[in-house]
Amino acid sequence: MTRRISILGATGSIGGSTLDLIARQPDRWRVAALTANCQAQELARLARRFDAEVAVVADETCLPELRDALAGSGIEAAGGAGALIESAARPVDITIAAIVGCAGLAPTMAAIEQGRTVALANKEALVSAGDVMKAAVARCGTVLLPMDSEHNAIFQCLAGNDPAYVRSITLTASGGPFRDWSMAQLAAATPAQAVKHPNWSMGAKISVDSATMFNKGLELIEAWHLFPVALDALRIIIHPQSVVHSMVEYRDGSTLAQLGPSDMRVPIASCLAWPERMDTPCPPLDLARLGELTFRPPDEDRFPATRLAREAAAAGGAAPAVLNAANEMAVAAFLAGHLPFTRIAVTVEELLARYVPPAAASLDEVIAIDAEARSVARQMLELV
Ligand code: NDP
Repeated sequence: MTRRISILGATGSIGGSTLDLIARQPDRWRVAALTANCQAQELARLARRFDAEVAVVADETCLPELRDALAGSGIEAAGGAGALIESAARPVDITIAAIVGCAGLAPTMAAIEQGRTVALANKEALVSAGDVMKAAVARCGTVLLPMDSEHNAIFQCLAGNDPAYVRSITLTASGGPFRDWSMAQLAAATPAQAVKHPNWSMGAKISVDSATMFNKGLELIEAWHLFPVALDALRIIIHPQSVVHSMVEYRDGSTLAQLGPSDMRVPIASCLAWPERMDTPCPPLDLARLGELTFRPPDEDRFPATRLAREAAAAGGAAPAVLNAANEMAVAAFLAGHLPFTRIAVTVEELLARYVPPAAASLDEVIAIDAEARSVARQMLELV
């Protein structure tokens, strides 16, 4: 049976891995919308290659280039925030939410409002909107599938088990490229070093998040929203080989773990085929070749991000949205060479102390809090 799919963030790392799997089963999929921010040429190439119905650039200034690149193809070209939301609201069987950052929130919510299936990679959207997004999922009867490798692992380990029997959930973390660096080395870390992840190939923002451990902090909040456990039942462990993607411990002492190669096509395939399974081109896991899997506790002195995320989740209200906005701004400043690596966490901690808005009750309120948090962060960053 052919299934209709839209990919929000098609030109990114997750978008590319998703399209790689779709290209291997062309008869199974009909591509509705493909979106990007401004990579018009690449988006047009993908739209032609997958015969999409519509291609959308969020940045409207890139629309003329997209139109030119799609001329004569019969593929609709659109641009701007409204067009992005409209494309996400087109009826499909499954939407891949893979825009980076809170910029993906409104289109992801538009996809959720359809009441079909949304596979969520865009963790910042859930961290920022939390209860507002979960309420929309429940109201619309949407199936929200976690695509993040850790959350997809937990989802698989929970399948068929009563959540009441869960004692704890452990998120594994590679520790990123700087896991063994001293504070002095971290203070001098460059963007080029930060985006070189030892195990995963990912976009620049999540690679920096992995280096600071904010990725794990965001994932902690994401897991808290997605799974029926208290905050203090969520653990983080450093596992440099990135083979065990996460674990669920049950009350009887059994721990179920999901293992696999560090290739996002595995969790993406799990979402695309759910509740069935599909083939991927990923090589089988060769544990004998790997030899050993190691684990150690995280060091929150060198990497305070997970502590900040836990504190923001415990504070509740809009604190996770503020944490996310501050982190996005600080990561952008770091990537632009304007902020030392170790100031990313300092910026987040300072903004959390300075800006404490009440909890948001609607999507508009979340977006307003995100915008205000960015504005305060911008002023702070100019002072650094
Ligand atoms: P990339 O940076 O590779 O891709 C981001 C995508 O979002 C691109 O299509 C980009 O378009 C688009 N985009 C960027 N800014 C905007 C904007 N303002 N409005 C609309 N679209 C925008 O990111 P990744 O694929 O690495 O990550 C995507 C999401 O998935 C993130 O939330 C990340 O945390 C999550 N994730 C990623 C994993 C990975 O392995 N990469 C693993 C687990 C989760 P353009 O190309 O035009 O800039």
